[in-house]
Amino acid sequence: MGNSGSNSKWWERAQKVLPGGVNSPVRSFNSVPGNPVFFQSAKGSRFTDEEGKCYIDWCQSWGPMILGHADPEVQAAAMEAMEEGTSFGAPSRREVLLAEAFLNRMPHFEQVRFVSSGTEAVMSAIRLARGFTGRDLILKFTGCYHGHADHLLVDAGSGLATFGTPSSGGVPKGFTDSTAVLPLDDIEALEAFFTEHGNKLAALIIEPFPANAGLLIQRPEFLQKCRELTTKHGALLVFDEVITGFRVGPAGAAPLLGITPDLGTYGKIIGGGFPVGAYAATREIMGHISPLGAVYQAGTLSGNPVAMAAGLATLEKTGRPGFYEDLERKGAKLEAGLRAATADTGITADIARQGSLFWNVFQAEAPRSFEKVDGSRMKIYGRMHRDLIDRGVYLAPSGWEVGFVSAAHTDHDIEATVAAVAETFKSWSSDACQT
Ligand SMILES: *Cc1c(COP(=O)(O)O)cnc(C)c1O
Repeated sequence: MGNSGSNSKWWERAQKVLPGGVNSPVRSFNSVPGNPVFFQSAKGSRFTDEEGKCYIDWCQSWGPMILGHADPEVQAAAMEAMEEGTSFGAPSRREVLLAEAFLNRMPHFEQVRFVSSGTEAVMSAIRLARGFTGRDLILKFTGCYHGHADHLLVDAGSGLATFGTPSSGGVPKGFTDSTAVLPLDDIEALEAFFTEHGNKLAALIIEPFPANAGLLIQRPEFLQKCRELTTKHGALLVFDEVITGFRVGPAGAAPLLGITPDLGTYGKIIGGGFPVGAYAATREIMGHISPLGAVYQAGTLSGNPVAMAAGLATLEKTGRPGFYEDLERKGAKLEAGLRAATADTGITADIARQGSLFWNVFQAEAPRSFEKVDGSRMKIYGRMHRDLIDRGVYLAPSGWEVGFVSAAHTDHDIEATVAAVAETFKSWSSDACQT
């Protein structure tokens, strides 16, 4: 009963019972033409929709599926755990095993706590930073997303105002009074901020490779300046590695950049497709979390054994020799193919890429700050998105979002995608209102 039909039938039913038809706003096609496609099942690099049509998936659940969909080893591990019970609300060995595997990869941290989402990880890490330093103020950057906790849903203030205003309805003004917002890639503004407010700052939080407003790759000097100034002023540096952790390298961005943050937040890959988040730091800092310290944080389903098993199997597999080299090779091949498909079309475009993260941007040069992203160009992405759906290639449904290469993508997937993009651009060249 009720388990067949077309994408449009499900979309109609979904809109009646789910606000906007979705359980997370990025899934709606508000930024691209057409209606959402309903995933029926997924395997490896591909998924099949409710009409039986197969797509090459470059969104991969927004990052968690670094091994591709329904990896057999991850599934077997989760199944084995499930047979032993789905939730204990008491300590169990898989939490210890995942913590050990995590810390083996992250020697700059000594302890980790598991939660159930990236949002929860960041929210808890900020609370910990405030509890540890005894200060309230936090600093974030425009274009960086850190989940939907009230005090992080902030827009930059207008003009010279440093303190943010809520970017979401339902967030009291007072909740964002202690969140300052600066542009990325602006060392001068950063220095001026620290001169004035540095001694009141609990934490600076940043995505080391900002990947939630396109892929805004920072100059190394900017991130080094973040480290230098936080250390100098007694504030904590928080790397939000919910996307980059276990993605841009075996331990994420921190060792790649040669910068050691005080706190790290994780999600997505660490749950192997189940809801898991984590935050980690030194023993000294983590000692402030309850039950050891005064900063409260808890969770009924935290450390869930099935999710831990999936995370553990995922980490184990990404730890095999050559794993990240293979992802880099595939990322580079995709990038080169997409560049070639755009060349000589007259379409102004660039690709930003860090390993298996990529961003198609319709500007001459991929920008480094949110302020330099030209929102008016997103309609070109929307048109490409629609045409690629027709050709069996699925990209994230917004030009502000990045793409994800998984280990399951084959050379053939890359070649087929590049061919579909080339065909799409060619089909536009007959049309006058192009770019
Ligand atoms: C996805 C994401 C989050 C939020 O994680 P959820 O699991 O969606 O709550 C936080 N920070 C970054 C950098 C993210 O990409």
